[in-house]
Amino acid sequence: MLAWTLGQLVNLLPAGALALAVTHFGRRPGLILILLLIIVVAVVVYLLVRRRRRGALPEGSQPPIAGISTVGSTATSPPLVQPAILRPAPAPASADGATPALLLEGLSKSYGSLKAVDGLSFAVRPGSVCGFAGPNGAGKTTTIRMLLGLISPTAGTASVLGHSIHNPASYLSRVGALIEGPAFYPPLNGRRNLEVLATLGGIDKREVDRVLEQVDLRDRARDPFRSYSLGMKQRLGIAAALLPRPELLVLDEPTNGLDPTGIREVRTLLRSLGNEGTTVFISSHLLEELQQMCDEVVIIRQGQLLFAGEVDALIQNQQSDLIAVPEHAQDLERLGAICAQAGYPTSTTATGQLHVAAPVGFSAELNRTAMAAGITLVELGRNRQSLEDVFFELTEGQKS
Ligand code: ATP
Repeated sequence: MLAWTLGQLVNLLPAGALALAVTHFGRRPGLILILLLIIVVAVVVYLLVRRRRRGALPEGSQPPIAGISTVGSTATSPPLVQPAILRPAPAPASADGATPALLLEGLSKSYGSLKAVDGLSFAVRPGSVCGFAGPNGAGKTTTIRMLLGLISPTAGTASVLGHSIHNPASYLSRVGALIEGPAFYPPLNGRRNLEVLATLGGIDKREVDRVLEQVDLRDRARDPFRSYSLGMKQRLGIAAALLPRPELLVLDEPTNGLDPTGIREVRTLLRSLGNEGTTVFISSHLLEELQQMCDEVVIIRQGQLLFAGEVDALIQNQQSDLIAVPEHAQDLERLGAICAQAGYPTSTTATGQLHVAAPVGFSAELNRTAMAAGITLVELGRNRQSLEDVFFELTEGQKS
């Protein structure tokens, strides 16, 4: 009934208004006034309809969820943690089920004449814990920002969980990220901070208990964030990134500024996430840490790729040498001469070790020849290189 009455009113309104305007203002000004009125009403109706359509979520979709916490980006004042507007999307079909978690193809980003990222191409296996290493200014953060859709590439392309980075909304709901350290409301306790994020992201608040457990912060969850140690703050940041149960976790320097205990905590946490099947992509300067927790590593310098692959393969493929230590330091020279005679150059360290540029197979022969010459060796073995050694070799000694 009300609708019918309104309909009649709307129908009668133009005729009534026209009669009123013509009577009051005369024929011509009255018509112009009515025309203007109609245009204004049409514009208002159009704007209202458009707003309604934009606000509506597509059928079957879920409200946005938070997955990225960043500082140093274009974040404005509070809230400090930027929730991304994310919508779940199905993973693209893949015959063998091995769609790379990350796939970069000639990805580049220039700032004026500076090539911050210069034609990067590599793939990260799903379910692996992959380190992302490089000296200062190598382009790690810039790469990560492009992968998370925070900045656009200048050239090249990449996909995250099978979806193009040109459409971040299609994959961000399945990605958790922590960039350049966590940012939370200092006076709120850890639990409340996470609850705020969960609410903003449309995530069930019960998930907060799960992530607090995962990062081992349940006991301190009621303490204000400002009272947390750096390690705890970092773990709370990781907890925030874990709220949407991500398939891929992207962490930019999560161990930056942490003491050895904090580093160990974060390392244990990330390793356990990797064991549970989450793909972890983690940038760090701390190569020893990467070596201990990563299966794969990507090394870049000046925006360009130096290495991408298994950590073990990287270390084993490097030129390794033998270390031989005689019982008596005065035998070092004779030992060196034996090696030189076999065609292997040597160098002596200040601590009395002889480094021999020879394959592992030469160790047995060296042992026999040294014994025959009356030299007793107290140590003979392969000089195991660390990722750090390899990194410095690859980056030509640049300090990270
Ligand atoms: P770090 O380990 O020191 O954080 P990084 O490997 O993360 O370094 P990026 O932060 O990605 O390196 O920076 C790569 C290069 O791009 C640097 O030379 C940096 O100064 C430059 N750069 C990054 N962002 C911008 C920007 N918005 N405008 C201009 N230059 C930029």
